Amino acid sequence: KKRVYTFGDGKAEGRSDMKNLLGGKGANLAEMNLIGVPVPPGFTITTEVCTEYNQIGKAKIVDILKEDVINAVAHVEKGMHMKFGDKENPLLVSVRSGARVSMPGMMDTVLNLGLNDETVQGIAKKSGNERFAWDSYRRFVQMYGDVVLGMKPESKEDIDPFEEIMDDVKQAKGVFDDTELGVPELQELVVRFKNAVKKRTGKDFPSDPWEQLWGAVCAVFDSWMNPRACYYRSMHQIPEEWGTAVNVQAMVYGNMGDRSATGVAFTRDAATGENLFNGEYLINAQGEDVVAGIRTPLQITKEGSIRWATLAGISETQRAEKFPSLEEHMPEAFKSLFETQQKLENYFKDMQDLEFTIQDGKLWMLQTRNGKRTAAAMVKIAMDLLREGKIDEKTALLRQEPNKLDELLHPVFDKRAIQTAHVIAKGLPASPGAATGQVVFHADEARKYPVTILVRIETSPEDLEGMDIAKGILTARGGMTSHAAVVARGMGKCCVSGAGGCLISYKDRTLTANGRTYREGDWISLNGSTGEVYEGKIPTKDPEMSGDFAEIMTLADKYRKLGVRTNAETERDAKQAVAFGAEGIGLCRTEHMFFEGERIKAMREMILADDEDGRRKALDKLLPIQRKDFTSVFEAMGSLPVTIRLLDPPLHEFVPHEEENQREMAVEMGISPDKVRQKVDSLHEFNPMLGHRGCRLGNTYPEITEMQARAIIEACMDLKQKGIVTHPEIMIPLVGTVKELKMQEEIVRHTIATVFAERNDKIDYLVGTMIEVPRAALVADEIGEVAEFFSFGTNDLTQMTFGYSRDDAAKFLPVYLSKGILKNDPFQILDQEGVGQLVKMGIERGRSKRPNLKVGICGEHGGEPNSVEFCHRVGMNYVSCSPFRVPIARLAAAQAAI
Ligand code: ADP
Ligand code: MG
Ligand code: MG
Repeated sequence: KKRVYTFGDGKAEGRSDMKNLLGGKGANLAEMNLIGVPVPPGFTITTEVCTEYNQIGKAKIVDILKEDVINAVAHVEKGMHMKFGDKENPLLVSVRSGARVSMPGMMDTVLNLGLNDETVQGIAKKSGNERFAWDSYRRFVQMYGDVVLGMKPESKEDIDPFEEIMDDVKQAKGVFDDTELGVPELQELVVRFKNAVKKRTGKDFPSDPWEQLWGAVCAVFDSWMNPRACYYRSMHQIPEEWGTAVNVQAMVYGNMGDRSATGVAFTRDAATGENLFNGEYLINAQGEDVVAGIRTPLQITKEGSIRWATLAGISETQRAEKFPSLEEHMPEAFKSLFETQQKLENYFKDMQDLEFTIQDGKLWMLQTRNGKRTAAAMVKIAMDLLREGKIDEKTALLRQEPNKLDELLHPVFDKRAIQTAHVIAKGLPASPGAATGQVVFHADEARKYPVTILVRIETSPEDLEGMDIAKGILTARGGMTSHAAVVARGMGKCCVSGAGGCLISYKDRTLTANGRTYREGDWISLNGSTGEVYEGKIPTKDPEMSGDFAEIMTLADKYRKLGVRTNAETERDAKQAVAFGAEGIGLCRTEHMFFEGERIKAMREMILADDEDGRRKALDKLLPIQRKDFTSVFEAMGSLPVTIRLLDPPLHEFVPHEEENQREMAVEMGISPDKVRQKVDSLHEFNPMLGHRGCRLGNTYPEITEMQARAIIEACMDLKQKGIVTHPEIMIPLVGTVKELKMQEEIVRHTIATVFAERNDKIDYLVGTMIEVPRAALVADEIGEVAEFFSFGTNDLTQMTFGYSRDDAAKFLPVYLSKGILKNDPFQILDQEGVGQLVKMGIERGRSKRPNLKVGICGEHGGEPNSVEFCHRVGMNYVSCSPFRVPIARLAAAQAAI
């Protein structure tokens, strides 16, 4: 088995389509070599080795890899004309992680590996730059200490020993920037860093380059299992088996002086999608300096620089002098970078996120990958590339991440409210959207209030979980490529970064801006599209579908075969869904209509009644209310089909449980409170979800079904008189035997026939059923003889197939997920293997008796992309989901059909 793949000098053993084996970074480093982009030579240890490592451990892995790695290092030495560990002409390398998909900031990188007290002299002599040599050395000891030797503090409260020493040395010298430190200080840093390592770990800092190398390689493998990486994986459903590759690569130096630099760039704007090359860089710096927010990064293009200065209120003379763009500072290097970015984008045919280093005027590329972007950028870039003729329609659709569209469907600030809102600070528009919430200062407190804004000086990978929970993120430091900005964009979370006017004290838990102090729990609002920070809570407004978003949706409709309906009970939801492209209602839950105001009283009266007469009296009160509700829903949907489900939940959910409400009901009905209580008690069920609900209610109290059928059909006939043609579909829930369905069907048809006779008119309607009890899927052939349509209620079907109570699963599902007993939460992502078989069988058996049987799904899964793909595959006619997921389902359906 080949475990190590080399690259360098225009040759490579790997390719960009080998991401599974080489990781994204390694595969693209190989490919860049093959297409003639300058990349320092190196090699990649495969992701398979990571899996082996986790099985057999460090010692054995080193044994297995030794020969391959020695040969690969020799290959790099040859390419660089240097020698690893040599005193005169030492080769230094970086050791970098790289999973199949990029996991920003998850895995740690070690730079300048191979340095020790002897090789540092060689570097100094050969470069003629002693400062550079020692700067590299102190960086190496710090990074190696953090990443490999575990010096990085576990929590934010702990002091980072290296930071402390660094601050101390800077202070003693009276300087602010690390670039101002001279050779003696840098040497002092190295010594003190090493002492700190010895003090903490009890061991000397390793000086043997090979020992350093193996330590770093194994640390990368270890980082695959660190809690941050595990959390990111679970958040993005990345399997543990994938593993990470390790890339070892010859160092190029951005910290060699004024003609050296390091930076990151995007071939297009990752926030808006605009076709604008952009990025940030730092002169005389290395590696993560740009993203870490150590110094204020500069803009790469002149245009970007001018725009940045305007935002920051910096004059043009000051900008040109103090904050020059790369375009101005190093025109030659900029030219090669510009050409390279074009080449890479044209080659990969997608927006690229690039890392580069300029060593003494010469450009080196260190990474390229398809850039993370906001949903707006995702849509715009795909549509632009389509219009530019670089990709075709199918590719444009496949480039969309359906779940990400969510961002475009989320609220923006209410226009009127924002006009009077008070801006307290301005930062960079790091990740668009609007957010309002209560201030918290620590990531692990993001749940302290129902909606929070995480306010930090800067964020780091440890804050990931809190960033995920918060509604928005505000940082005082950091650019557009800072950790906060990159991660927030990936999450689709509103973020304002680098709001310099904000003074944050973690200790006092205060944010001071514009002369006022805000405490934890105070409300603020963020506009991630403009970078504005507002005081107070600002109402938000629902978004609209237009421009490129509308176009990509039209494209999706062209390819998809599945219909997309919505789950909606109210006129408002129905209208919203239609605006998002819903083609009907797949589930209208009638019980939701019984909870408000006077309705609940009539409902309770019905339930508490002693006999049919009493129930009918109460149902007579409910009839006009239901009819009115249905009328508004049907009216909102016009001629689109509307599936109405008859009453489903157990009756006890509606009865008064508190003494006060029981007394009130007693007065209302003229009976004793005791009697009310008795009735409530008698409705108690041990297992309500498996109890007296669904069609079991309708079959024991047929008058309920009668009332509902009448309300539905009368609403439709009223509308017919107004010239609106409706398509009602009446759905019987929780059917397990064909008799249950048959009985309900007869009541419905009989009632409707009576209404037709009364009005001397008729309309078309359908009677169908939900398939949600496993038995119904098994006898779907019999059921298909009666039902005119099936709708898979996959929430209940999942619940009953697994035997997991949905209301109690929270107690064990997280454990099951973390132990790997389950891969996904089956209530979120349809279990295709098990529950899916019942769905498939149900459809086949149903259609064996009724070939044109209409089949849909109305569980939560109807808006989940993986499940939508499944629905397409098993031949459903439509999926139905909540209004805000309609566009997501449309897109997922198109992708399934491509
Ligand atoms: P991440 O996956 O977190 O981006 P990387 O492995 O890409 O980590 O590296 C971190 C930083 O170090 C990047 O800025 C990268 O450009 C820089 N870097 C990595 N390898 C080298 C190298 N051989 N020479 C110079 N800089 C490097
Ligand atoms: Mg990188
Ligand atoms: Mg159900």
